[in-house]
Amino acid sequence: MAADEVDAVVIGAGAVGLACALELSRRLDSVIVIEREVGPGREISSRNSGVIHAGIYYPGDSLKTRLCIEGKKLLYRWCETRDIPHARTGKLIVATSDEEEERLRKLARHAKAVGAGELEPLTGVEVARREPEIRCQAALYSPTSGVVDVHELLASFLREVRETGGTAVFHTAIEDIHRSGREWVVRTEDTMGRGAEIRTRRIVNAAGLSALDIAEMSGLPARERPWRLHPCKGSYFALQAGAPPTKHSLIYPLPRGAGLGVHITADLSGARRAGPDAEYVDEIDYTVDESHAARFAEAVARYLPAIRPGHLTPDYAGIRPKLVGPGGGFADFVIATPESQPGFAHLIGIESPGLTASLAIGAHVSEVIG
Ligand SMILES: Cc1cc2nc3c(=O)[nH]c(=O)nc-3n(C[C@H](O)[C@H](O)[C@H](O)COP(=O)(O)OP(=O)(O)OC[C@H]3O[C@@H](n4cnc5c(N)ncnc54)[C@H](O)[C@@H]3O)c2cc1C
Repeated sequence: MAADEVDAVVIGAGAVGLACALELSRRLDSVIVIEREVGPGREISSRNSGVIHAGIYYPGDSLKTRLCIEGKKLLYRWCETRDIPHARTGKLIVATSDEEEERLRKLARHAKAVGAGELEPLTGVEVARREPEIRCQAALYSPTSGVVDVHELLASFLREVRETGGTAVFHTAIEDIHRSGREWVVRTEDTMGRGAEIRTRRIVNAAGLSALDIAEMSGLPARERPWRLHPCKGSYFALQAGAPPTKHSLIYPLPRGAGLGVHITADLSGARRAGPDAEYVDEIDYTVDESHAARFAEAVARYLPAIRPGHLTPDYAGIRPKLVGPGGGFADFVIATPESQPGFAHLIGIESPGLTASLAIGAHVSEVIG
């Protein structure tokens, strides 16, 4: 089989893989993105809240904070200059107990310290004036948070990869990766069973939930891949027309457990959802369990007391590639360039805020991969 030769192979056409391909194809002649699905972002990237995060929750010295704050600026600029539907809606974070009020104050100090910007403190009375249905003791308003049309965004990433001379191939899975001399040889197979080989000096593993399989396939020794992925499902329920009205597009509780807490988001069309919850799972299954409506209503009722299970209908679910299991605490994004694998970058555990950070991750990866 004759092998094509390219400057870089990117595995995965999610937001992160496409953003990496974009950066690489600006400086390299031939970049190819290989994706097993029929189109871009069919896994994690289109199964999320579509929120542009401010970068307020994570440790100051983490990649999550740095790349989220940088990525947010790049993403707003990208959307503004390319007419991608988005809005700087701002976000309300509410505290419903004394303990949460204390955490809210800490969060405001933390956000300022890490460079995520000033959060405006609001009393419960001020929130009630703006949001009569919301009950809380205090809140923070994050003015730089927003929402983006993820499908339009992914389409624009793909368009620009192609316009900068890159190629994206769908319906094609990576089957094997091995080293041959100074190059990597990537074997692919499309859905018709046709195989191909590509030789390259650079590979970006942006395979999301399958990133560890790719790391193993590439021969990365076990001692150099100490990571484990714990798939963590996040389901969403749609708020029906009779649900209590809210004005802010983004209303979040304080984080509890593995996610940011069951929040309310309104997309650009005004459709409201509650979610995601955080449920560690053994297999990838995107069905939303209708019987969880009561649990969701209970979580939301902490700050929107008039919500009832009957206001909620199952919508969609996404799965986070978490690097820690239940109760595991904070884990940063991993962007590994192992010494034993010249030209290889493995992106592991790119959960939230990976969509916000995508363009900054792309710039970072392009720099470290050489
Ligand atoms: C419930 C939920 C809510 C979230 N909310 C937000 C949010 O509001 N804001 C935010 O910033 N972030 C959010 N995130 C995180 C964000 O969605 C992800 O960080 C980001 O989309 C990850 O993109 P990716 O390209 O790494 O992964 P993916 O989009 O999953 O892309 C990986 C791609 O690799 C492909 N692939 C895998 N293996 C192979 C193979 N062998 N051959 C070929 N192709 C392969 C897959 O098909 C897939 O398309 C959320 C995530 C979840 C799950």
